[in-house]
Amino acid sequence: MTRPLRVRIAPSPTGTVHLGLCRTALFNWAYARRFGGTFVLRIEDTDHDRNTQASQQAILDGLRWLGLDWDEGPEQGGPYEPYQQSERVERHLAWAEKLLASGHAYRDFSTPEQLDAWRAEQEGRKQRIAYRGADRDLDLAEAERRAAAGEEYAVRFRIPDGETTFEDLIRGQVTIPHHEIDDWVMVRRGAASPTYNFVVVCDDLDMHISHVFRGEEHLVNTPKQLLLYSALGEPAPEFAHLPLMLGTDRKKLSKRTGDTALGDYQAKGYPREAIFNFLALQGWALDGETDVFSREQFVERFDIRDVAKAGAVFDPDKFLWMAGEYLRGEKPEELAAHVKPFALEAGWMSAQELQERWPWFVRLVASVQERLALYSDLPHWVGHMFQPHAEVPYDPKAEKGARKRERRVELLTGFADALESGAIHGSPAQWAEQTKAWIEAQGAKIPDLFQPLRCALTGMAGGPDLFETLDLLGVPAALERIRAGAQRLA
Ligand code: GLU
Repeated sequence: MTRPLRVRIAPSPTGTVHLGLCRTALFNWAYARRFGGTFVLRIEDTDHDRNTQASQQAILDGLRWLGLDWDEGPEQGGPYEPYQQSERVERHLAWAEKLLASGHAYRDFSTPEQLDAWRAEQEGRKQRIAYRGADRDLDLAEAERRAAAGEEYAVRFRIPDGETTFEDLIRGQVTIPHHEIDDWVMVRRGAASPTYNFVVVCDDLDMHISHVFRGEEHLVNTPKQLLLYSALGEPAPEFAHLPLMLGTDRKKLSKRTGDTALGDYQAKGYPREAIFNFLALQGWALDGETDVFSREQFVERFDIRDVAKAGAVFDPDKFLWMAGEYLRGEKPEELAAHVKPFALEAGWMSAQELQERWPWFVRLVASVQERLALYSDLPHWVGHMFQPHAEVPYDPKAEKGARKRERRVELLTGFADALESGAIHGSPAQWAEQTKAWIEAQGAKIPDLFQPLRCALTGMAGGPDLFETLDLLGVPAALERIRAGAQRLA
């Protein structure tokens, strides 16, 4: 009998939204969308010391921003509520009782001192041996009597002899001999506090999860969890462990080689679709050639079985390149909407002014589109537009280039006069033609005017078409800049 397809992610809300979580979410989501399954979001918030509400909110906001909508989970609800692990503890403890009663788990009354002594012994050993609690063979009635008398204990899982073999959908057959696995703690000593390996199984069972796709770091946990399923007499889900995301130093992706949080990339102005596309490439490929593909193509083709085993190197240069590809493909109106927060942050004008000048702003953004890789690049290219005209800051390189042109003052002044008198008129394309003819008539070369003119108008050594910039500035403002330039560059 095939079970309904139900996948989930179970993030712990402890800190920023890591790209690894986003990638795991992406693959789970895509699998559910492609094969008509349900994508569940469960918050594993049992680590009270490290969880924060802010982190949980950031996860929900981040996943939504990426367009990874969950079918069941916080804020969304669903048939297996609550989706907040901390609210399911009663249920977990009931499962623990069941396992104690069936003998698959036992109470370990060892004191912290005894456990420390055992650990110290372990360190002295050449070969590690798995922990088997001294009380594992204690008579159940005796253990219950001691517990009732108030003696503290941990609940441990009784690892049977033998080995566990399972078929990982990415890695193939994985076998782990049981003598490598400790009788691990299901419920911590002294507090009714269940551990991850235990509750994840309870919740996955309760929520009828059919497939568990998660990071490779969890591979060591899977045999423990599989043994629990079989102890409970329940069918286990299918498992797949996604390859690690590596930094350019080939070590696990971390701050050493770049930003790791989704928020960092949002703040820098990476287009959403570029982030989505780039994450999809972390361990998966469309056809081995096509790097840029749409979300629809991804969903159409994604299969967990095609994910690579080898670690995926996260290449920041390629990411930046991809950001530019997406950004430059946007329609001007769309791009303007995406760069708007960066414009407001730069403080050039109020939200209302921006709204009033929206068509102009769209043209301004379009004029530099080819030069942007990230939304946050906008201020570099157009910031000068919002400076007082007579004081546009000159980039030293631009100024040096302008000063090399001996006839700069004369040509700037002459050009300003021609513009003011209407000798140069019409559209930006006509200005360009007329200006070139005018320069020739002065017996000068194009750069003799263009270099000082660009410096006077923008303060930059390079940039978009000069006459388009002039048009965006408007003739009066441009004249003010050119006349100031003639003085400043004298
Ligand atoms: N809370 C675990 C994590 O964030 C979940 C692992 C799992 O998917 O089982 O890594």
